Amino acid sequence: MLYIVVELSILIIAGALIYFTLSKQVYDEVDESLYLQAQSIVSELERSRFHYWSFHLNEFAKHFHGTVQLIGANGVIQFATNSNLIGKGGNEVSKALGKARDDESTVFISTLSLLRKDNIRVIAMPVHRDNHVIAILLLGRSTNEIQGFFKWLYLLGGVLGLLSMLISGVAGYVMARRALKPINEITSTARAVAAGDLTRRLQSKVQDKEIRVLVKSLNKMFEDLESSFMAQKRFTADASHELRIPLTILKGEVEVALRHPRSEQDYKQLLKQHLDIIERMQRIVNDLLTLARADAGLLELAQEPVDLSLLLQEVAQHHLILFADHHINLNMDIQDHLEVMGDQNHIERVIFNLLNNAFKYAPELSTITLSAQAKDDLAIITIQDEGPGIAKEHQARLFDRFYRADEARARNEGGGAGLGLAICKRIIEAHNGEISVESTEGEGSKFIVRLSLSSTNPEFSQRLHSLIEHT
Ligand code: ADP
Repeated sequence: MLYIVVELSILIIAGALIYFTLSKQVYDEVDESLYLQAQSIVSELERSRFHYWSFHLNEFAKHFHGTVQLIGANGVIQFATNSNLIGKGGNEVSKALGKARDDESTVFISTLSLLRKDNIRVIAMPVHRDNHVIAILLLGRSTNEIQGFFKWLYLLGGVLGLLSMLISGVAGYVMARRALKPINEITSTARAVAAGDLTRRLQSKVQDKEIRVLVKSLNKMFEDLESSFMAQKRFTADASHELRIPLTILKGEVEVALRHPRSEQDYKQLLKQHLDIIERMQRIVNDLLTLARADAGLLELAQEPVDLSLLLQEVAQHHLILFADHHINLNMDIQDHLEVMGDQNHIERVIFNLLNNAFKYAPELSTITLSAQAKDDLAIITIQDEGPGIAKEHQARLFDRFYRADEARARNEGGGAGLGLAICKRIIEAHNGEISVESTEGEGSKFIVRLSLSSTNPEFSQRLHSLIEHT
């Protein structure tokens, strides 16, 4: 509607402008030709004697397409070809006559004939003799032809204008309907998703690029919403499952212990077992807390220079005795003076987790290699074992929460809850780094951590700071 109103206004303004310019030009031409003709006969009259006047006026009237009148200064009509037209043309003509006589100037007026059928343009020009106005010449010319032309122009303009408004109105309506159609679908789908139907997607196959992009982005948003909702659901289910098992065991053991009195030794033994279970639950709850903090952006990360080479050597030292007890060889290849910006405790936790995992899966008499090298502006840390390796299908999900590549083995042999690698990934990403795994089944696994070196990258501390603020 607005579109049509704007178009109508433009058409009216354009029509009015065309009309005024054109009509002014046409009427100016009429006036000019009347003026030239009046001037030629007036100068003829002014030069000749009175008794030749009617001859000259007759001659002139023969060639003039209109009315010719000569009115004396006293108001008496001295010559008229058709006195009905101008003589009784009304007040306008009388006024023009008076003005031409008194001001001794040429006056133009437009008037209608008595029958109001004819539009006449009239010129009143004074005739002088001895510096006195002795008569007024009136020439009247019909402008019906011009009026007719303008009438035709109005009609044509009106019809064309209406037609163009009709066409653009229909086209605008069709376009608006087509553009708004997908909006209805978007609204109903968004409502359905909001109401809980997370599997709903937009089907719209519209041509318009803007709507296509909108549909694509909304579908992507619905997908993300669904997957994050599912992940949340899985996470809650997994977390309660992980805690339910040790709680069930604990409850069972306490019930059995209470059935009949036991020796102090037995009680001590039982309480020690319970403590183990409680410690395992405590570890899971602590890990969950760390992940929840990281999700909420509350993970407190210090931002200080960390001597990575020293840190790796210290963590390795802690493991040496444990490894030796199990006849596992620890091979170290750590480049000196590697420095990164970040949180010493958190980085230590990552390396600790990875070394522990390697130890858990390494067979006796095998070698675990811990290496750290600088490459470009990165410190590349690798922890490689000669264990069973990880099947390709598990590698992509290994860093997910509660994910275990080998459920049975992990649980029976005192494995964790599957949160260790998820925490490692969160910590490394908060340091703007990367963690990945390379493994071939039966040949061992290699975990790779990439961190930016602070010495080669002065902007790193700034980037880390802004990252921590955003997480
Ligand atoms: P968990 O606490 O159960 O060890 P992680 O998140 O540390 O959890 O590890 C997830 C899973 O990845 C483990 O259950 C295991 O199946 C697999 N995994 C981790 N490290 C290794 C490794 N070095 N060799 C083989 N499998 C591994």
